[in-house]
Amino acid sequence: MKVINKKEIKVDSSFAEEVAERSGENVFLCYQCRKCASGCPSRIFMDSTPTELMRYVQLGMVDEAMKGNTAWFCVSCQTCSTRCPQDIDIAHVVDTIRIIVQEKKIKADTRNMRLFNWIWMKTIKYMGRMYEAGLVGSLNLFTGKPFKDMALGARMIKKGKIKLIPPIRNPLETMKMFSRAKRLKK
Ligand code: SF4
Ligand code: SF4
Repeated sequence: MKVINKKEIKVDSSFAEEVAERSGENVFLCYQCRKCASGCPSRIFMDSTPTELMRYVQLGMVDEAMKGNTAWFCVSCQTCSTRCPQDIDIAHVVDTIRIIVQEKKIKADTRNMRLFNWIWMKTIKYMGRMYEAGLVGSLNLFTGKPFKDMALGARMIKKGKIKLIPPIRNPLETMKMFSRAKRLKK
């Protein structure tokens, strides 16, 4: 006799409406054509495809939509939004899910993406532009792998692909921009 594991699925009937309202996208229009998933460059790393994510949202399957890594592996390339025949901005739906996950402090499989985003934002805020060597170095330090990809990084610096010296550009302007965004959020 074959035993099939039964998984309890938590359904929240208000979830789809919350995502639709906050993103401004009518998630109910998705008819699962899969055009979004077939063009997604991050698909191979994701727990669920963007198409599956849309279905989870429609059905109110909160754990499936928010605890997996899908939203965190999205690189906001907009391919899905461009391809959708129903004109749904899926990338914006994914952004909204990321925001809800953080607001509700849901324990999601983010694989250091939250930390990556945090370092990225701080770098932009205080330097006025991206500093790749600093970003990777900080990420390695915070994750307890200080020497990860060191040889590769050294080769990239040697070939001029990334810079060792931080390229600071008008940080006062970006700091003001961040403060304005914070005030607007309040
Ligand atoms: S925006 Fe995100 S979900 Fe959409 S195709 Fe790009 S990586 Fe995939
Ligand atoms: S492309 Fe649009 S309609 Fe098709 S599965 Fe993706 S979200 Fe749904």
